[in-house]
Amino acid sequence: MRGPAGLLLAALLVPPAGAAAPAPAPFPGGIAVLPLPALGSLPPVARFGGRRVLVRGEAGRWVAVVGLGLDLAPGRHVLQLADGTAVPFEVRPRRYPEQHLTVPRRYVAPDAAALARIRREQARVRRILARYSEDLQPALALSPPLRAPVSSPFGLRRFFNGEPRRPHSGLDLAAGAGTPVRAPADAVVADTGEYYFNGRTVFLDHGQGLITAYMHLRRILVRPGQRVRRGEVIGEVGATGRVTGPHLHWGVALNGAMIDPTLLLAERP
Ligand SMILES: [Zn+2]
Repeated sequence: MRGPAGLLLAALLVPPAGAAAPAPAPFPGGIAVLPLPALGSLPPVARFGGRRVLVRGEAGRWVAVVGLGLDLAPGRHVLQLADGTAVPFEVRPRRYPEQHLTVPRRYVAPDAAALARIRREQARVRRILARYSEDLQPALALSPPLRAPVSSPFGLRRFFNGEPRRPHSGLDLAAGAGTPVRAPADAVVADTGEYYFNGRTVFLDHGQGLITAYMHLRRILVRPGQRVRRGEVIGEVGATGRVTGPHLHWGVALNGAMIDPTLLLAERP
């Protein structure tokens, strides 16, 4: 039986007020923002597609902020809470525009050695994007990593030399070589490396499954494990990897899903 003491306890153990969650954008490449039927002062554990999902307190309730992959089928999906509760939600369709590019043939038809390297690198990126750093509190309003026009938006359905490729999983910012690239929020450097397609790359872990990536850099100015503050310079724009000229490819992943970085921007780049 729940007596007056129980009621008092329930009143005390409510989710914190917290900062506002981003606006819902429930389509592939977007974000679902789902109020959870859970009380208590500790955030409930929620999973989507087997992956831990970011949960934050907002206006006295718990809210899941779920990254929706570009390959997710529109329709009904389900978020699972650790206590067995299912939270259904709807993913709406979105049609992204097409882009046709001509690139050097070795990038469209890599040889066996390059293919082996590409597979190793894909596995490494999957491991990085699978991180869930519970103790880091991510800011969900990001600052632009630099100020430059968008040369290629998120989600473009790309064709290289006429062959369909994976859709564009980040945002291209047309800044000149050497332009400083800044952390969009506090983070820990998850990894750095030189990749076949992505060139010199920095991955930042902002916590709870929010990972951001900076590709084609000329110089990398941070080391794995290093803590960086919002606005700190982490590298310089370059043209390393599969590119036709210098630019920053900025990727944002939430629970392993690449989402449109502009959805978390506090202001336009
Ligand atoms: Zn790009």
